[in-house]
Amino acid sequence: MSIVAAVMPAPRARVELREFPEPQIESGGMLLRTLYSEVCGTDVHLWHGRLAGVPYPIIPGHVSVGIADKIRGEVVGTGGAPIREGDRVVFYDVHRTCGRCYACAVSGTPTKCVKRKVYGITDSANDGLFGGWSQAIYLEPGVVSAVLPEKVSPEDYIGGGCGLITAVHAVDRAAIRLADRVLVQGTGAVGLSIIALARLAGASTVVAIGAPRDRLALAARMGASITLDLERATAEERRLTILEATGGRGVDVAVEASGSPRAVEEGLRLVRDGGRYVIAGHYTNAGDSTINAHEHINRKHLEIRGCWGSEAGHFVRALTILEEHAHHVPWRDIAARIYPLAQVNDALADAEAMRLPKALVDPSC
Ligand SMILES: [Zn+2]
Ligand SMILES: [Zn+2]
Repeated sequence: MSIVAAVMPAPRARVELREFPEPQIESGGMLLRTLYSEVCGTDVHLWHGRLAGVPYPIIPGHVSVGIADKIRGEVVGTGGAPIREGDRVVFYDVHRTCGRCYACAVSGTPTKCVKRKVYGITDSANDGLFGGWSQAIYLEPGVVSAVLPEKVSPEDYIGGGCGLITAVHAVDRAAIRLADRVLVQGTGAVGLSIIALARLAGASTVVAIGAPRDRLALAARMGASITLDLERATAEERRLTILEATGGRGVDVAVEASGSPRAVEEGLRLVRDGGRYVIAGHYTNAGDSTINAHEHINRKHLEIRGCWGSEAGHFVRALTILEEHAHHVPWRDIAARIYPLAQVNDALADAEAMRLPKALVDPSC
């Protein structure tokens, strides 16, 4: 039996369908029949060749959901029970984190582990079915996997997708306190989830700056109390609105999820004295931001934090969050349109043009 997958052969080369043989499953491994994978901003970056160390050709699609088709030996899910064939399964896309290198053992930054591999990003198609734009995904032994909670639909899970998992990390870094006034810059999949999580974390006001207009409507449904349209309100209008909403002080915490150097310049000015600024959107090098260290950092007594990737705990907690809150937070609406494998090039183009917050891939159609 052969398995069809969409392969990105090289940067800026058309994604093409290829057939793969069914893999040999190692003991403790699993073959997942893919229900959905997603097209996110990372896939657009991958197509442009903006990420270092990507072993093209690759099968993109890092966050996915499927059905356990074949399991060899025992695979224990994060809930503690063995996963069975037929279960709805999700998995943490990062694998082979070593636990022993300097990043893992000393600096407390396992997302910077030198051994770490990521499904759909740093695993080559030459090594097998390590990406979600495929009828099946091979979960090698040691991959952190979980049975999808009963209350969570595959559409809820993939609607949140990698953006939700990243957002859990970003909100941890933001250390939001009860009643905080929070600014979220960017209304892509990550920003939309940060808005919802900031609310769940106890923020009293969440201001979202983003575009286009329909995205802001979704931002409001995710929990933003004030939405500011980047294309309609000037920077000065945005500043005045935020000052008005915060007693003239600025927000307690701002989280950047836009990938724009201009957003960093603006955001640092909108945080109150002694506040916190988290940068989560600059996943690739988008260029320099101009900062006045005196005015925007030192005199403000500001704390600035980066946020790189996610850890297994963020994945597991994302599942709990979906289980408790997907009935009232519209994560599933972030996933706007479903594409079959044969149309992933269109999905990439639509994602890049921001015609939708997120494109899904359904390899069965
Ligand atoms: Zn390591
Ligand atoms: Zn992603």
